[in-house]
Amino acid sequence: MKRSALIVAALALGTLTLAPALRGQASTKEIPRWLAESETYGFNPTWDEIDGTAWKFVTHVPHTPEYLGLARAKGVRAFPYVTFYQLPLYDRWQGIRLSEHPDWILIDARGAWAKTGFWESEDAKNIYCTCPNTAGYADAVLAYVETLMKRGAAGVFLDNVHPNKECFGEKLGKHKHLFPTQMEAFADLMRRTREVIKKYDPDGALLINSGDAASLPAEFWRDADCGMSESYICTWVSSTRWGDWAKGWNGIDKKVPAGKQNCCLSYVGHTSNSVKDDLFFCYASARLMNFIWSAGNKPEVKSDKFTRLLYATFHIRMLAESPVPVKVGGDFLNGRIYFGNGSHLYSWAVTE
Ligand SMILES: [Zn+2]
Repeated sequence: MKRSALIVAALALGTLTLAPALRGQASTKEIPRWLAESETYGFNPTWDEIDGTAWKFVTHVPHTPEYLGLARAKGVRAFPYVTFYQLPLYDRWQGIRLSEHPDWILIDARGAWAKTGFWESEDAKNIYCTCPNTAGYADAVLAYVETLMKRGAAGVFLDNVHPNKECFGEKLGKHKHLFPTQMEAFADLMRRTREVIKKYDPDGALLINSGDAASLPAEFWRDADCGMSESYICTWVSSTRWGDWAKGWNGIDKKVPAGKQNCCLSYVGHTSNSVKDDLFFCYASARLMNFIWSAGNKPEVKSDKFTRLLYATFHIRMLAESPVPVKVGGDFLNGRIYFGNGSHLYSWAVTE
């Protein structure tokens, strides 16, 4: 029996018995066991949405001491969103007001401030690329990560991890660089970030998003515990499942270094398929590779009964003691358990 069929069979029985296995040999920087064993995770969830799930961690959570402190107290590993790629001039993000530090902005070949790549696509006006190769900026973002860790975070979700544009800041006399290349500078910033995380939580992790885990450079995998495949099979910009499943989505595990983990984030609810079909297809595809999966953030999908089923714990739970020994039966039909004892047939309504 193929493993996909096994998973579906297990789901039909309401028990998920496949133990996730660690892929390949552990790398030199081992990821936490809870991360290796995770099956699904929470993406910006409410506390109510966390209840009843098997989630070992949640991402895109508030940065406040109240939230992160409560998450730590409840035993929920919380990963706030951060980026080292860009900052706005007009506001304070991640404890930094960029207008006070224009020397931290990445400089283009013409000597101008480099605009974010999302300037037009997401109308991110007045947001500029920052230079991870400047000492002041690197120290400032690390100080912010330290603040989050002190508040109770289990690490950070670091977005926009891709090879930075070249910075002409040093050549044009705008600022000094720590490393010969932007790649080395960003990789070192990731190394230092993970060190800060581990200092406060030895079981913490650095989760990153490059958009496509399959093409993440080895330099950036080194200090990442977990990558991400965003818009995994389902995305909000397509009314059909996109990409080549056989060549692309199903082969990511061959491109992720052994011992590392990957989050498959599907934005379910935008295709013409039924939500149920897309949920099960995306979930099974991700789990075939032992990757972690989320159905995205569309409210009606988050609350869908099949989404909740896939997120749920599958532990056996005692609902009630039988008043008489169950001699025969024990079948379940239309919300009732039927069983027999002697010449009597009993039934019991199962309610949540
Ligand atoms: Zn620079």
